[in-house]
Amino acid sequence: MARIFAVANQKGGVGKTTTTVNLSAALAAHGQRVLLVDLDPQGNATMGSGVDKRSLAASVYHLLVGLKTLPEVRTKSEAGGYDVLPSNRDLAGAEVEMVDLENREKRLRDALRAVDDEYDFVLVDCPPSLSMLTLNGLCAAHGVIIPMQCEYYALEGLSDLVNTIKQVHAKLNRDLKIIGLLRVMFDPRSTLSQQVSAQLESHFGDKVFKAVIPRNVRLAEAPSHGLPGVVFDKAAKGSQAYLAFAAEMIERIKSI
Ligand code: ATP
Ligand code: MG
Repeated sequence: MARIFAVANQKGGVGKTTTTVNLSAALAAHGQRVLLVDLDPQGNATMGSGVDKRSLAASVYHLLVGLKTLPEVRTKSEAGGYDVLPSNRDLAGAEVEMVDLENREKRLRDALRAVDDEYDFVLVDCPPSLSMLTLNGLCAAHGVIIPMQCEYYALEGLSDLVNTIKQVHAKLNRDLKIIGLLRVMFDPRSTLSQQVSAQLESHFGDKVFKAVIPRNVRLAEAPSHGLPGVVFDKAAKGSQAYLAFAAEMIERIKSI
């Protein structure tokens, strides 16, 4: 059975897509069968996987509104060694079109059932909002991975997200839990980073992943080459951190 994880944080630019792409590639490098779902109309995870969002025959949009089946939408990240349900700007329209559909928050969950046996991990890259698209990600998932930067305002937005997750858990998806908080773009030389990081550990205990992703320019450069960072420069500190995070996830799912 595939374990499905939504990578979510309604704050923009906190490293959701970088985490989804690199965790997918790192899990694949560890021999896991992975499907990445790009639930963001920006299509960054699609491009970062080396799939051109401008020339898609079909996208997650078609899947959510019922115009195509999952196998028709699915493509491959040759570079990353995982499968992709790609997206582009078309997906922005799905939000409105889904309003009239039955079970609109469960469209992704229902679509993923068809491929449950084919993957060990399904990772869903959510957009920076608590929208119907993110809700579809949360309804489909067994757990949420929350990437966050260790900065002053990081904790503020977190309570909104935690409340949303609680509501989804209560009303729509009893399986859903927070798997963990992932510290990203971490700067070990910054005192503030260290303080916020310590605060996270004392508040959230073992919900904070042991792996810490450092700020690393190689991770930021990789998408312009259409490659996940862990493929573009495997030896880079950021890539090594994502490989360690993947190993931690493989361990973690044994007890979920
Ligand atoms: P959005 O909310 O717009 O979807 P996001 O949360 O998906 O954004 P990313 O796109 O992953 O965030 O990252 C935002 C920017 O930070 C990107 O330019 C990315 O390359 C850069 N970045 C992410 N992680 C790191 C890192 N560990 N080191 C250096 N740069 C990083
Ligand atoms: Mg993103």
